[in-house]
Amino acid sequence: MSKLKYPNKRTKILATLGPSTDTKEILRDLVISGVDVFRINFSHANYQDVEKKIKWIHEINNELNLSIGILADLQGPKLRVGDVKKGASLKPGDILTFTNEEKEGTAKEVFMTYENFARDVKVGERILIDDGKLILQVTETNGRDVVKAKTIQGGKLKSKKGVNLPNTQVSLPALTPKDIEDAKFAISKNVDWLALSFVRHAQDLQDLRNLVRAESDHKIPIVAKIEKPEALENIDEIIPNCDGLMVARGDLGVEIPMEQVPLAQKMLVDKAKMARKPVIIATQMMESMISSLTPTRAEVNDVANSVMDGADAVMLSGETSVGDYPVDVVQTMANILVSVERDPHIQVPPHKPLEANDVRFITNMVCYNAAENTKSVNVSAIVTLTYSGYTAFQISSHRPDSHIYIFTPNKKILGMLNMLWGVRAFHYKGDKSTDETVIEVNRYLRDNGFVKSGEFVINLNAMPVFRKGITNTMRLTTV
Ligand code: PEP
Repeated sequence: MSKLKYPNKRTKILATLGPSTDTKEILRDLVISGVDVFRINFSHANYQDVEKKIKWIHEINNELNLSIGILADLQGPKLRVGDVKKGASLKPGDILTFTNEEKEGTAKEVFMTYENFARDVKVGERILIDDGKLILQVTETNGRDVVKAKTIQGGKLKSKKGVNLPNTQVSLPALTPKDIEDAKFAISKNVDWLALSFVRHAQDLQDLRNLVRAESDHKIPIVAKIEKPEALENIDEIIPNCDGLMVARGDLGVEIPMEQVPLAQKMLVDKAKMARKPVIIATQMMESMISSLTPTRAEVNDVANSVMDGADAVMLSGETSVGDYPVDVVQTMANILVSVERDPHIQVPPHKPLEANDVRFITNMVCYNAAENTKSVNVSAIVTLTYSGYTAFQISSHRPDSHIYIFTPNKKILGMLNMLWGVRAFHYKGDKSTDETVIEVNRYLRDNGFVKSGEFVINLNAMPVFRKGITNTMRLTTV
């Protein structure tokens, strides 16, 4: 592994925690190599382990003066088969019986975790097991507790593998009892983002939002993981109800034909950008680096093209959770990001005409114009103050040709902001006049090496200062 150097990149990297990231030293190396947000996958998490890692991440933030974020990814209504005897295998034509009775499975009969399966499924619908490696078709259901299916594509039937039912209206709630327990635990640990798997409707997100409201006095933003055909159909009602999107290509590529995923990805990035919400591209980005020091050329292109499409963040799953080279994969990914992200071909969201009667109209226009100005004036950074983080989302979405430095008195949003493209956030306690604040924050940036004397910066402020929340003033300043 080459010597670690913090990459000067703007696209964010999410890294999934797991057995391969089991020491504080590895976490620190991952951060220095370019990780911006750690993802805890609650499908596999153990609370004691999560608690230990969250503590390490907070310590690393203090030691390195960073705001690395933590995203708690809730499993959602994921279906699975139960334990299966080793060696079980299915051939095309074999009939497999799914039962609600919990017992060790064989190539003839297997336990299914989804209680209403026999009631919800219809003859002719497909059952995909293990990321679609096995494909079956329903031949019979007793409407109560037994479903029979014929194997179309065979293979090994292994314990606890995921099951996808792309044609079935699954009647499970969006938040299972496990999700509720996991969400409460994550909220009590002050995570910066929650992600909900298998979102189908806006209501799923509202249910999680209500749970957050009941458990916390602070708004924790929610990422909707898009991995169901229903989510694609309902995307225009989902986006206003979430704070970010994840293109969860693993399950999405099983739930819809995988050749449709590339265009779905582009559609989702465009819609998220129009809504000024961050979008994460996830799964198999650097898959071969789970066991190799070199990615495939196709993987390098996939990461680069995601940036060109306008992604805010790219995610690593198995590569960092169970892979052999977690630090190298982050370094390699960061190098790809740095090499493409300043290219003029990067898609910037079209500037949607804003309604003049929108309460945020003034702030939105100021943020948009600040970003536009960085393209004609050689500006080193846009610098702004925020309490809720709203202006950071706006500025970031316009992809300014400069750094974005955010100062906030609200410590709770620092980790959240770290997921946004190009954003670096700092805690700032001051309650001075606008003039004094501009001088203080610019001085802080200069003294800490973020900008140099004589460079241009754009300062965004609310004037007069008591009108907090309405960023209405843009100043071009020399440091
Ligand atoms: C995915 O399916 O692509 C995904 C990110 O979800 P998970 O890793 O939770 O299966």
